[in-house]
Amino acid sequence: MTNTSLNNKSIKRHDIKDKTVLIRVDYNVPMDPGTTNIADDSRILASIPQIEYLLKRNCKVILLSHLGRPNSSADTEFSMKPITVRLSELLDKPVLQIPACKGQEVENQIKQLPFKSVSMLENIRFESGETKNDHKLSRELADLADIYINDAFGVAHRAHASTEGITKHIPSYIGFLMQKELDVLGKLMSNPDRPMTSIIGGAKASDKMGVLQNLSKTVDAIIIGGGMAATFIKANGFSVGASKYENDRLLEVSDLMENDKTRAEIIIPSDVIVADRFHADANFQIADVNSIPENMIILDIGPRTSEKYTNTISGSSTVIWNGPMGVFEWKNFSSGTINVAKAIAGLKDSTTVVGGGSTADVVSKLNMNNKVTHVSTGGGATLTYLEGKTLPAVEAIVKDD
Ligand code: AMP
Repeated sequence: MTNTSLNNKSIKRHDIKDKTVLIRVDYNVPMDPGTTNIADDSRILASIPQIEYLLKRNCKVILLSHLGRPNSSADTEFSMKPITVRLSELLDKPVLQIPACKGQEVENQIKQLPFKSVSMLENIRFESGETKNDHKLSRELADLADIYINDAFGVAHRAHASTEGITKHIPSYIGFLMQKELDVLGKLMSNPDRPMTSIIGGAKASDKMGVLQNLSKTVDAIIIGGGMAATFIKANGFSVGASKYENDRLLEVSDLMENDKTRAEIIIPSDVIVADRFHADANFQIADVNSIPENMIILDIGPRTSEKYTNTISGSSTVIWNGPMGVFEWKNFSSGTINVAKAIAGLKDSTTVVGGGSTADVVSKLNMNNKVTHVSTGGGATLTYLEGKTLPAVEAIVKDD
């Protein structure tokens, strides 16, 4: 996928006056547990500029999204209705809730709608054909509109009927939010300002190996933290006490650290916070990595490591962060993650990108959203991109250029 083919498929480049437009959005918003109250409406808010752009051009706008993981349309708690209500408030305009997402009745209802109107189809995951990329379903979705826009970066790594299959049946374009994600991540991977540092943490090394392998070819330094650090510390020849590590990944991790052909220096913790059990109120102490007590587990990076990581981050022109440095949800084990976050927030002229579910949560909890260049909205999609793999939903749109 080249920049030219991507730009050629940007919706901004095309005349879309008076069209019926189906937008695949990502309204998979968090709900307060057990209720239909929207806990965070930022995804709905982020979609408004694209919708208003189309309304200004006299389009009939039809929105389509998934929400949660329903088993069937009988799971009414996954209905799009609360999102439709919120969208209507944010747009200050009526938004029609259509009771299904395909079929003759839906087609008729859309035909009768005036131009400059907004309507929302029901949860696409009510259709079992969605995740199977069912040909018939993608055809039926395509029949609802003149053109299709994909603006759902969060599901771009999935070849589903509403993300990939549909593009075979209707002129298809890249929406504003998708474009922004691809522009930011594309620049990071192709032409970053240097030095570039990547901070990779999180629960397991195996979840991040693809990203580490790919980033090690591009970035100048990779900082390691989180539960996965145990596998790196062990691979470096130290005991990790009672911490879980991934035995079957030790060789791969050693190779990554020792490989002279990769560009990146891999930096691992020199000290850690260890605890006597996996609990918020566990007893804890600082330990050097060469003397981790036998029956204790690593739950955060230590203060010396935090200082070293802060220095590396402070000297970087580009930073990409995925995964916390420790069990940040528990106060006693949140310092490493907070220190890294503060170092990133303190950078002035650097490009700082935060990607992936739990890291985006950290940034939001620390009120840091305005202090980073970009928070990538896709967990799996961001990781897939950073692994250097193609995103099927994007590829399907740009491939015929
Ligand atoms: P991920 O989704 O892979 O980025 O992992 C995020 C999760 O990793 C968070 O819920 C953290 O609590 C967890 N985590 C971070 N450090 C550790 C650790 N040392 N031990 C166990 N879990 C950890």
